[in-house]
Amino acid sequence: QHFLKRIQALDPQLNSFITVTEEAALAAAQAADTRIAAGDAPALCGIPVAHKDIFCTEGVRTSCGSKMLDNFAPPYNAKVIDGFNAAGSVMLGKTNMDEFAMGSSNESSFYGPTKNPWDTNCVPGGSSGGSAAAVAALLAPGATATDTGGSIRQPASLCGITGIKPTYGRVSRWGMIAFASSLDQGGAMARTAEDAALLLNVMAGPDGRDSTCLDKPAEDFTRNLHESLRGLRIGIPKEYFSEGLDPQTEACVRAALAEYEKLGATLVEISLPHTHLAVPAYYVIAPSEASANLSRFDGVRYGHRCENPADLRDLYMRSRGEGFGEEVQRRILVGTYALSAGYYDAYYNKAQQVRRLIKNDFVEAYKNVDVIMGPTATSPAFALGAKSKDPVAMYLEDIYTISANLAGLPGMSLPCGMVDGKPVGLQIIGNYLDEARMLNIAHQFQ
Ligand code: GLN
Repeated sequence: QHFLKRIQALDPQLNSFITVTEEAALAAAQAADTRIAAGDAPALCGIPVAHKDIFCTEGVRTSCGSKMLDNFAPPYNAKVIDGFNAAGSVMLGKTNMDEFAMGSSNESSFYGPTKNPWDTNCVPGGSSGGSAAAVAALLAPGATATDTGGSIRQPASLCGITGIKPTYGRVSRWGMIAFASSLDQGGAMARTAEDAALLLNVMAGPDGRDSTCLDKPAEDFTRNLHESLRGLRIGIPKEYFSEGLDPQTEACVRAALAEYEKLGATLVEISLPHTHLAVPAYYVIAPSEASANLSRFDGVRYGHRCENPADLRDLYMRSRGEGFGEEVQRRILVGTYALSAGYYDAYYNKAQQVRRLIKNDFVEAYKNVDVIMGPTATSPAFALGAKSKDPVAMYLEDIYTISANLAGLPGMSLPCGMVDGKPVGLQIIGNYLDEARMLNIAHQFQ
């Protein structure tokens, strides 16, 4: 009731929810009460959580921020949703997002932009901007999110909360609407690393229905939270402190790094020499995969269908033309082009080769350091409309986050200071499967 009241009072300004499942939430909370009274409370019994509208929820609209799926109520739950249900958590509703998770500002949502709770003239980041804003405004204690190129970390940074994108394959993609399947990864947003760890505990684990889901048993991500950081070697990539980084943001990040030194860590300057190729490689690979994944939305089986199609071709063209927004159409065009005969080798294959170079940079770096740190975003939250007409400016928002997706590495963002009343995030990129250590590192700072 507490959170539903806050949503009612504050969300008309923030627009962080697409759907609020009030009745079901109250019923689930009652059921949780009964279980607690009976002494049979699972891990998140009665804990309210908001879910990004990319995770399929049985019988509850799952729009992915798109007109295409405005009428779609899935017949099944995502693996992640089943995990939360089994843990007794209470779903408050489904959060706003950039259409099909394509964006860094939440402005491409069919349901209108989400506003940043710290300054409602600013964006919350994206694509998981609804989840980030909801957690930051205390409309929910935690939320699910997804990160294909930065969509957990960048909004966490701009909204002053903690977000973790685990190693690729940690969290099943079953029932998580696909954008770029080799990059997409579900994760958690919360106020603290400790809370994020508790959420991740019920999200991670093997799943035979997602062939890229890792065959690693579920683990307790809270297990290292209290360990000392003495002796920790933190790699500071010089490429992450280049021109384009707002000087005040840099000062916050450097101050946080100095705190880590006080906690017993050593800072080691490193180089990730292919960093400048991450954004170009991503914007070939992600649209290519998106163009293939989004071909399923054809107006035939589910989703938006145009009125009175003249024939099958007209049905496809108008349903897709009406159902997809501008950014999604741009990505489908770019991706279809990059995959087409004659261009595949020049663009897609080349991008995959670059991807391997980027991954190898990290493999080399981790021979000398335990973890990598830098800024999450180049600046604090920017004004609504500031970048929405300039796709390339928007793409550059993810300059520090995309490499971790290309390499499949876990990444997180935690609040590390304020500039002009707006939060700044510190990014931690961990080695493969090192989430528990990263959460420990974040927890010691918090
Ligand atoms: N901003 C990036 C994009 O638009 C990343 C989005 C994401 O991680 N889903 O593709």
